Amino acid sequence: METNFVILGTGAGPGLPSFFCDCVGCREARSNPALARTRSGAFLDTGTTKILIDTSPDLRQQLIREQIRQVDYVFLTHWHYDHFGGLGELEYYVKLVRHEPIPLFLPPSAVPQFTAAFPNLREVFSVRAWEFNKPYGFGEVSLMPLPANHGIETAGFLVSAKGCQLAYFPDTAGLPAESAKVVVGVDWLVCDATFHGENWFPHAHMSIEEAIALGQEVGAGTTILTHMAIHYSQPVANKELQAEATRQPQVAVAYDGMRIRL
Ligand SMILES: [Zn+2]
Ligand SMILES: [Zn+2]
Ligand SMILES: [Zn+2]
Repeated sequence: METNFVILGTGAGPGLPSFFCDCVGCREARSNPALARTRSGAFLDTGTTKILIDTSPDLRQQLIREQIRQVDYVFLTHWHYDHFGGLGELEYYVKLVRHEPIPLFLPPSAVPQFTAAFPNLREVFSVRAWEFNKPYGFGEVSLMPLPANHGIETAGFLVSAKGCQLAYFPDTAGLPAESAKVVVGVDWLVCDATFHGENWFPHAHMSIEEAIALGQEVGAGTTILTHMAIHYSQPVANKELQAEATRQPQVAVAYDGMRIRL
């Protein structure tokens, strides 16, 4: 059975375009929607089991665009709005189609926050805390939360399928040594590259250059840049971004709907 990892969204918190911004990246994304970036998230399809990784505020649009009609599990990397804001989009799927709660795996510290923020979604999800370094198996595919550096309790996920490995770290500032060890030699590192130019939040995010360097350090087959802001410190147009980022052949810039076959 074929396993696919679909990158649903590749933007940082404000998305691209950002409604309040008129930089070259946002202007370009307004006139060419193919260059827009919805908030970050991914979809792991093992062929039988369909797993959402994060529920961005753009989730509805992402599910429609990718023609996703089934969600069996949800795993969240961390409790920031750009990663959990779309949880409520699953309410009517559960009520009208699925008729039973979706298992929702959260960082342990986010469980009380979910309960406080979404009392109306109690019947939509059966909430569980994920555990770091524990592989969750789905047939031949496994998903393992690994610690990330992001200020609050945050995971990246290591996906293993038939000898292939993909590490998904949308929000992290480098990697804790224990996680770096585990991702050595992964086929794909999908990595936080929030900043073009100066990194304003070096304890929570990475710049494009830092993400590329991390990929080299862990010996990733391909480093895929995601969670991009484009305009925080040094706005950039897509053409220049592509040229700069892909000087090395083992680097790719993620786009919404990018599909990786494991
Ligand atoms: Zn902008
Ligand atoms: Zn975050
Ligand atoms: Zn984020």
